[in-house]
Amino acid sequence: MTLDASRIAFRPYWWDIEEPLRQTHNDPLPPEADVVIVGGGFTGMAAALPLARAGKSVIIIEKSTPGYGASTRNGGINSASIRPSHHDLERHYGRDFADKIFLEASAARQDLEDFCQREKIDGKFKLSGWFKGAMSARDYDYLAHETDYLRETLNIPCHMISKADQHKEIATDRFYGGMVEEDVGGFHPSKFFAGFLRVITEAGVRIFEETAVHDIIDHASSGKIVITSKGKVHGGTVIVATNGYTGGREHKFSRFLRRRLVPVRSSIIVTEHLGEERVKALMPAMRMYGNTAELVTYFRPTPDGQRILLGARGAEAVPTIKTVNFLRKRLISILPQLSDTQIDYCWTGNVAFNRQLIPRIFTHDGIHYSSGYAGSGTVWARWCGKKLAEHILGQSNDPSILSGDITSAVPLYDGHPWFMPFVYSWYGLKDQINEWRHG
Ligand SMILES: Cc1cc2nc3c(=O)[nH]c(=O)nc-3n(C[C@H](O)[C@H](O)[C@H](O)COP(=O)(O)OP(=O)(O)OC[C@H]3O[C@@H](n4cnc5c(N)ncnc54)[C@H](O)[C@@H]3O)c2cc1C
Repeated sequence: MTLDASRIAFRPYWWDIEEPLRQTHNDPLPPEADVVIVGGGFTGMAAALPLARAGKSVIIIEKSTPGYGASTRNGGINSASIRPSHHDLERHYGRDFADKIFLEASAARQDLEDFCQREKIDGKFKLSGWFKGAMSARDYDYLAHETDYLRETLNIPCHMISKADQHKEIATDRFYGGMVEEDVGGFHPSKFFAGFLRVITEAGVRIFEETAVHDIIDHASSGKIVITSKGKVHGGTVIVATNGYTGGREHKFSRFLRRRLVPVRSSIIVTEHLGEERVKALMPAMRMYGNTAELVTYFRPTPDGQRILLGARGAEAVPTIKTVNFLRKRLISILPQLSDTQIDYCWTGNVAFNRQLIPRIFTHDGIHYSSGYAGSGTVWARWCGKKLAEHILGQSNDPSILSGDITSAVPLYDGHPWFMPFVYSWYGLKDQINEWRHG
């Protein structure tokens, strides 16, 4: 079937909501604030809230509009995934570290649910569970091994689904069975963002939008001077929360982070209205879904249960019909029943990877950072922003296992990910070999 390109909206499906995604004030940038945060996404807002509630004056400086980065563009899957497996983490950093990260991910997921309830945020959060489809028989065995460990040793609720039972989860034969993580949910990113924005606004945090930070320099006595497109501000404490949008050479301050973070494009499509009955027939368990491929694909029903959303890594900077066709091919490879389905939305955004492929919270040269969520930031960004604020407030009775180490710079790299086409080809090849040899 040929797509009707004229009906595709090249913007996030999530942006069509009634709740405001911006603050209404017209205040000029103040000359000083106790805390200045660069970047108005989940990380920046999460760091701002405890600091403002502790009585500090907190401002967020955002280059575009609040949430314009990944925070209102994501798939809304609240997995707090860790890109390396438990086995790989154990091999590199020891079992204790691996256990602690997986337990912290579980605590962070629970904390997101509690946060929505406590702050009365109607982000359409639902504890749906997450099905991860095995791309080969070998992947199934790996998942089964990991599932046993997570359930029996760490008490993380998860179980395996055999290939024979797979249709109870999703109407496909594409996978060799899979793993279900029961404590994973999904939300509506913009509705959650709008609720979060209301909460920080009530706490007194002001966002200065359409204001780019160009540089951060030492103040003569204490703190930093943040130089922006709309003037300077003295910040007692400065947090950089720019993640996958850390920017290029025009922003001098970002060089340190830019050399440590690789932005990777992720793109998403949303089908036409299918109706709940058809979506349920395709996804009977109505969970969040993903797979074990290196070039991962993620998919889910939209929160109203009427459409299907699918995303994958890699795309053009500005999405075109080529992006749509690339993602639609993935969709049909999993759910061939949708080969006659139109696509209504397509968009792209940036996620960020560091060399360790795990989120990191650290301080360098008096500036605080949290970043590197490796495409799983809907839970991690809020959690790490909060943990960073607790550290700044000296409330770190329960410090994050992700705190401390500064990630190392990527060799021969200064913010332009010239090597990504090679990385995509290499991972694509690995995926093909995995299916061919171990399928
Ligand atoms: C297409 C896509 C799908 C995704 N799907 C999922 C998913 O299903 N589940 C999941 O867990 N995660 C997902 N993610 C990842 C998740 O959305 C991010 O990890 C998370 O939103 C990061 O939040 P953040 O606040 O750190 O960064 P962002 O939300 O990206 O915010 C950074 C902000 O910094 C601003 N900024 C940058 N430079 C400057 C400057 N010089 N001055 C001022 N402001 C600046 C940017 O404009 C931007 O708004 C996805 C991401 C994308 C792009």
